[in-house]
Amino acid sequence: SKSDSKQNVKKEEKISTCPTINIPVKRKQEIQDARLKLPILGEEQVVMETINENPVTIICGETGSGKTTQVPQFLYEAGYAHTNGIIGVTEPRRVAAISMSYRVATEMNLTNREVSYQIRYEGNVTEDTKIKFMTDGVLLKEVQKDFLLTKYSAVIIDEAHERSVYTDILIGLLSRIVPLRHKRGNPLKLIIMSATLRVEDFTENQVLFKTPPPVISVDSRQFPVTIHFNKRTPLDNYLNEAYKKVCKIHRMLPEGGILVFVTGQQEVHTLCKKLKQTFPVQSQSEKCGNTKRKKKGGAQKTKVENLPTINLDNYSVEPVDEEAEREGDVDSDLDLGDDGNLDDDDVNMISSDGESHQSCTEPLYVLPLYSLLSTEKQAKVFSPPPGGHRLCVVATNVAETSLTIPNIKYVVDTGKAKMKFYDKVTGVSTFKIVWTSKAAANQRAGRAGRMGPGHCYRLYSSAVFNDEFEQFSPPEITRRPVDDLVLQMKDMSIDKVINFPFPTPPDVEQVRAAEKLLISLGALTTPPKPVRFKDTKKDPVCRITPLGKAMANFPVSPHYAKMLALGHQHDLLPYVVAIVSALSVQELFIEFHTSTDETSEKSSFKEKIKFITQVKKLWAGKDHSLLLGDLMVLLKAVGAAEYQGCTPQFCDKHGIRYKAMKEVRKLRAQLTNSVNSVMPDTNLCVDPKLTPPTDLQAKLLRQIVLSGLSDHVARRYPDPPPDADEETKRKHAYQCTEIEEPVFIHPLSVLYKQKPEYIVYQYMQETSKIYMKGISAIEPEWLPVFASYHCTLSKPLDDPEPDYDEVKGQVMCHMTSTFSRCVWAVPAVRL
Ligand code: ADP
Ligand code: MG
Repeated sequence: SKSDSKQNVKKEEKISTCPTINIPVKRKQEIQDARLKLPILGEEQVVMETINENPVTIICGETGSGKTTQVPQFLYEAGYAHTNGIIGVTEPRRVAAISMSYRVATEMNLTNREVSYQIRYEGNVTEDTKIKFMTDGVLLKEVQKDFLLTKYSAVIIDEAHERSVYTDILIGLLSRIVPLRHKRGNPLKLIIMSATLRVEDFTENQVLFKTPPPVISVDSRQFPVTIHFNKRTPLDNYLNEAYKKVCKIHRMLPEGGILVFVTGQQEVHTLCKKLKQTFPVQSQSEKCGNTKRKKKGGAQKTKVENLPTINLDNYSVEPVDEEAEREGDVDSDLDLGDDGNLDDDDVNMISSDGESHQSCTEPLYVLPLYSLLSTEKQAKVFSPPPGGHRLCVVATNVAETSLTIPNIKYVVDTGKAKMKFYDKVTGVSTFKIVWTSKAAANQRAGRAGRMGPGHCYRLYSSAVFNDEFEQFSPPEITRRPVDDLVLQMKDMSIDKVINFPFPTPPDVEQVRAAEKLLISLGALTTPPKPVRFKDTKKDPVCRITPLGKAMANFPVSPHYAKMLALGHQHDLLPYVVAIVSALSVQELFIEFHTSTDETSEKSSFKEKIKFITQVKKLWAGKDHSLLLGDLMVLLKAVGAAEYQGCTPQFCDKHGIRYKAMKEVRKLRAQLTNSVNSVMPDTNLCVDPKLTPPTDLQAKLLRQIVLSGLSDHVARRYPDPPPDADEETKRKHAYQCTEIEEPVFIHPLSVLYKQKPEYIVYQYMQETSKIYMKGISAIEPEWLPVFASYHCTLSKPLDDPEPDYDEVKGQVMCHMTSTFSRCVWAVPAVRL
């Protein structure tokens, strides 16, 4: 089959027109000398012949071998920017897009009118642009406007090994665009570049490329790097450990730059500050520490409407900037609670042992490096340190493959990385600090061997490395909940998600279930005929609705995104943000099993239950439990804890898990920031304090909760089913729309006693029975409005002659569920 593919390639070559002109580039001598040292320069001919002869080419090469800076220049010189379009290069990170455009312009002696960049909100692209660096999100937006990408003659997908969702989707799209462009006699060359040799997902995926694309691997010129493992792995204080290691290297080891890997912007600042204090450079006056703060006290300006109900057609608008992309989603630096203030924890991580105050050694030139750092500050790492001092760069994993910092001899690796995790229940994404992969750790070590033999200090033991580090980080697409992925892709106008050529595809059944959920939430259009997904051979095409577009802006599961999209009404947004954050943290209150004391005896277990029950009663209040419900109790707890300054004492006393409450606080800050960026007019306050909602607001909040969890409605059996056992009869079973079996309110719910007729629940948990948790009471007449997909109306709500129920004096409608057995007649009152 190999010779087959070769023939294919030959045939294609005859049709395709490769540029035949040579474009001269006048490089400075020192640049030319530096280029000649790069391994990829020796491969220029192979690279260009392969690209000319094949529609798709894969280039693998160790970081620093010259892929990003040189391959665009090869294409330029071969005339690719002068025939049928320009050269596009995508990067998963903003920092790389910007700095690479400047570097390539400098190397080629061209201006930024010709070699330009475009990132989320800024860029310097002109009509003269020949090479355009951009984030992958920017190119995705362009595909939506011009599917064939006619502007480009070649597209380079850089850092494909990172396997960000956007990169994967781009490669899938390009696998279709390339043959189409070929058919039209206006070929587009696709070049995929990777820092690792692990490219089977691209080469061995027949759905993606029928003919496996050729792979060029560039030999790396790497000096040996000696790896030093720690004997023990420090438990939590890796930042302090890194600090001590840098001090030691600087005091005791010969010259050579130090590169430290930590996990996020705040850690970078904390460590920089500490190192600058310890080894001051006289001229180092510039303060380290992000002082940018959100405006304080910006009261929400949302107008209160007269109608005391949630308007489903009134959702947040899209960002003003049409070009905007959710680049933050793939940016490892998007920090939790990124308000620029140092977390107490961060500061405490670096203890002030005696070492830190001996400022008697040589100065150390300390520089921060992370994605969101300004371009000028980023550029500093490339110039020689002033005064000939030793350079120490404290970086996030931006420095792992995207940027090569010159003259690094020592790498200090905490082994940690900030990873995005998605909660299966809530779909909310959070960042957690975890061990990085073996591949990434080796990349980090490699940074020390670019200029000469180097050393890498791993702040963890070799046992931890061998046993706990994954070989590679899994592609982001496999870690992302499918509901959210489908919504994001529909937002990119990719309507047939099931047929999409993913490098690593998600589960088809899950994609179908996700589409169905999104239809029910009103995020996708309803397909023409009623759909039974199971039976249909051809999947119907459902497109994103304006509500879905608003929802797609929020980094939470579609259930919660809908709440956020509707939440700006009646000044509810701060509450919705707090509720969604609280829901995203598993169990805010202490539970039976969350024993703080492992050795607790049975008696103390009993006491604990007593305590929990008391605490719950307290939170529910005397008469307000019905008005409140569990989600409102969450809100109340968050408000109260924040009012008290979120102290461990308050949390302990009131049955709140302190750790969970701190997590809620972080999530609130993260969500508030994303709300503010989606709706700049909202100017939501990052201040964690909350005043209690009014009774009207509390009612509207339950409507919002219902609209988001409309598939989680349950109704108490008017009478226990005839065949029910004694216990069921006694305990009041509920019928829900999701499953057939009877379900029950969890005993820890504040509504356990009241048992309202209609409720909406957050999720189900099966123990001895199937329990619903996170209960809110709802009014039945809200159902036709806020859960309309699940209701069949005999007549439309605004029908001038409604089906009037004389006895009850109400208009009737039916609530049907996935199971036809569950048909509820509910009064449809016009709201
Ligand atoms: P790769 O993409 O294969 O990792 P690059 O093309 O990014 O490699 O880097 C090639 C070389 O160019 C590296 O040795 C790096 O040090 C150098 N380089 C990149 N950017 C700059 C810059 N702004 N200033 C000086 N040298 C740079
Ligand atoms: Mg590169």
